Amino acid sequence: MKTEVTILRLGHRPSRDKRITTHCGLAARAFGASEMIISGDEDDELVTRLSSLSKKWGGKFKARYEKDWKKALRAFPGKKIHLTMYGEDFRKTASDLRNLGEKKVMLIVGAGKVPPEIYGMCDVNSAVGNQPHSEVAALGLFLYELSGRNPSEFSDAKIQITPSAKRKTVVDTSRPAKMAKKGKPSATKKRTQNAAKTRVKNAKALTKRATAAAKKPRLAKKK
Ligand code: SAM
Repeated sequence: MKTEVTILRLGHRPSRDKRITTHCGLAARAFGASEMIISGDEDDELVTRLSSLSKKWGGKFKARYEKDWKKALRAFPGKKIHLTMYGEDFRKTASDLRNLGEKKVMLIVGAGKVPPEIYGMCDVNSAVGNQPHSEVAALGLFLYELSGRNPSEFSDAKIQITPSAKRKTVVDTSRPAKMAKKGKPSATKKRTQNAAKTRVKNAKALTKRATAAAKKPRLAKKK
């Protein structure tokens, strides 16, 4: 069962938090969240940038602004988890959510000091270690654990990366080979187009093989 995850980002301050809120969105999307609600000061540019990520990288991630964070929290129909160093161990929270088969989960992260009421308004306060660190790290680790350490892939991505320990292999399927302006493509153009199609096909096959290989234990046990 796939859990739908929404992130609620509290207290965004464009002048200080633009980069870190962007990174919260990037990490959240990459590790399986489908929505991010940004509260605090309005930042249209950030909302647009985060919402456009899926066009190129796949998935259905959307970001939106909500002035009233309490309204967003109360309206949420699933379990609300506040990420804070004062909470219970995140591995317990994530395993409870998985065992209960929760369909919708909201993860709440702060920027500066969070409003104290948040501790009582959420279902669980959950800690990724009891040391202060970062909302990006907290989101990444929590989502990774929630996915059972197996984050889903983006099959509809326009950019396909073939995992490689040695080199960078990227295929951008949004850039097909150019067609001739008029008439039929020349034999050379046709060859280029066919070669591009073959590259995409091969990259997809390689990605599939590399992903399957990554799931197998890699190091042989020492005798
Ligand atoms: N100074 C702020 C305070 O006292 O609330 C904390 C700011 S911290 C940089 C920003 C956010 O990162 C927190 O609101 C929390 O969501 C998250 N965070 C930081 N450390 C965490 C931890 N150990 N476990 C879970 N979340 C954490």
